[in-house]
Amino acid sequence: MSVQRIRKVMTRANMSDYDAMRDSFDWSDAQALLDGLPDGHLNIAHEALDRHVAAGHGEQAALRWIDKSGNRTDYTYADLAQQANRFANVLHARGLQKGDTVYGLLGRVPELYIAALGTLKAGCVFCPLFSAFGPEPIQARMQIGEARALITTTRLYKRKVASIRDTVETLKDVFTIDGAAEGTTDLAPLMAAASDSFTTAQTLPEDPALLHFTSGTTGKPKGVVHVHQAVVAHDTTGRIALDLRAGDIYWCTADPGWVTGTSYGIIAPLTNRATMIVDEAEFDVTRWYDILSTEGVNVWYTAPTAIRMLMKAGADAIGVRSFPDLRFMASVGEPLNPEAVIWSNDTFGMPFHDNWWQTETGGIMIANYAAMDVKPGSMGKPLPGITAGIVEVSGNTVTELTAPMAMGELALRPGWPSMMRAYLHEEARYLKCFKDGWYLSGDLAMRDADGYYWFVGRADDLIKSAGHLIGPFEVESALMEHEAVAEVGVIGLPDETAGQIVKAYVALKPGYAPTDDLRLDLIGHARKRLGPAVAPKEIAFRQNLPKTRSGKIMRRLLKAREMGLPEGDISTLESDET
Ligand code: ATP
Ligand code: MG
Repeated sequence: MSVQRIRKVMTRANMSDYDAMRDSFDWSDAQALLDGLPDGHLNIAHEALDRHVAAGHGEQAALRWIDKSGNRTDYTYADLAQQANRFANVLHARGLQKGDTVYGLLGRVPELYIAALGTLKAGCVFCPLFSAFGPEPIQARMQIGEARALITTTRLYKRKVASIRDTVETLKDVFTIDGAAEGTTDLAPLMAAASDSFTTAQTLPEDPALLHFTSGTTGKPKGVVHVHQAVVAHDTTGRIALDLRAGDIYWCTADPGWVTGTSYGIIAPLTNRATMIVDEAEFDVTRWYDILSTEGVNVWYTAPTAIRMLMKAGADAIGVRSFPDLRFMASVGEPLNPEAVIWSNDTFGMPFHDNWWQTETGGIMIANYAAMDVKPGSMGKPLPGITAGIVEVSGNTVTELTAPMAMGELALRPGWPSMMRAYLHEEARYLKCFKDGWYLSGDLAMRDADGYYWFVGRADDLIKSAGHLIGPFEVESALMEHEAVAEVGVIGLPDETAGQIVKAYVALKPGYAPTDDLRLDLIGHARKRLGPAVAPKEIAFRQNLPKTRSGKIMRRLLKAREMGLPEGDISTLESDET
């Protein structure tokens, strides 16, 4: 366990004193920073767009789109509001009603953002899907969410939707943004004919707004419902966990197909009146460093997988670029190894700030804040307004473990604005998450004496070996310290004497060969760092580790493959093992 501390001397941060803010924080004060609509109504799109236009900021860039060839197009707040109005008018003209679900199957193109906001304005529910999904995952998600309309491209429609369309009985309208295919409606003429003004639907705070499917890291993805009230958490966390300020250039690299790309790739930046960078292209080291430097990104929110790929490319990849505008960098989605935090501090002069949350929590719950010291490897402290605990569950009783570094399930006191309101059609599973006054996250963690939280692993991933409880993250982080290691996934395999043994799958940095000597060296390094009981007994080299589309290592798949078990739901699998 790292005991290092990166001291922070912030001249100015939105939250300059964590403890003071925690003591005085009240969600109703946070809500009062938003406009709301008459008679207690609330609509995310109003807070994201119309509020700023009405306040005279219509000409500020809201979205800066960089297409695959590198061309930039700016959309102002007024542009986005007008386009969203047109889309809302189109939906109403086609008979969509409040609560109907609109699916987006698009790459990172402006139409996706317009559709999401227009859907919310219309009082409908938006469900974004990764454009790289195949027909089956699309079909399953549209059936579960009873898709009423879909917005996509003719190419994606023909390749992925046409063959399954008839099985989604609720699906009446398919809009295509690039002309029409057989069975779809060309959206452009409808948008052109529609009025660019629209009275935003008078939605209630508890009306459904977003449907997100979880990443599928542990099994079949769940359909998580969020309501308009969630915007209070998006706005607040954007301000105090990401330190977003009006006018900031902000880059969230997540695709809206994953909850981060919506909560923090659409809503939080807009409610905080930032200019969002949206890059159509996939990850590329040179391109990313170019965007960071030429666009003058102030706040950057990304994920450990991408950070590890940047580390793998080495400092040379940065070349002569500099990042004088960069002020805050954050990471989410997977544990961020201490090594990555230290690397970022050396490379950018500031650390990545890890934060923790889930599709179910709708927004950031635990974070490293701008004006707080960072302990590399820790997820930070609970958001003001959030009560977290480390708990032990026994039957229907949940007991809080208060001793420093006691390992238990990470739990939250329910009631924050962006808490999920349902797992769609899985009531029993939803209710199981709440017990004895706690929301149970399914993740294991520890809290140190200073109140910092440390991720151990998912409850399913915990390894029990010869009387030791071993979290995969601890072992992975130790191996990540080795100069040859680019990425690593650790699992427990059944063993007659030890119960389980620790096995690590390692992807190497360029220039390192997967030799027996290296294997021994890695085991030796891990033993020195962790002791022989915790260090891996076996190491296998891989070109790549299997990951979800949201970039998470699928340890359950490593295990299933190793043991010859069924692979289960792999609808979100992205890069496969080779
Ligand atoms: P599924 O629930 O379908 O198996 P998933 O849990 O990966 O998929 P998400 O909601 O996208 O779906 O991811 C949330 C999970 O990601 C968390 O429960 C946690 O396990 C992991 N996670 C997110 N942020 C962090 C972090 N900063 N450190 C460690 N783990 C994190
Ligand atoms: Mg989960």
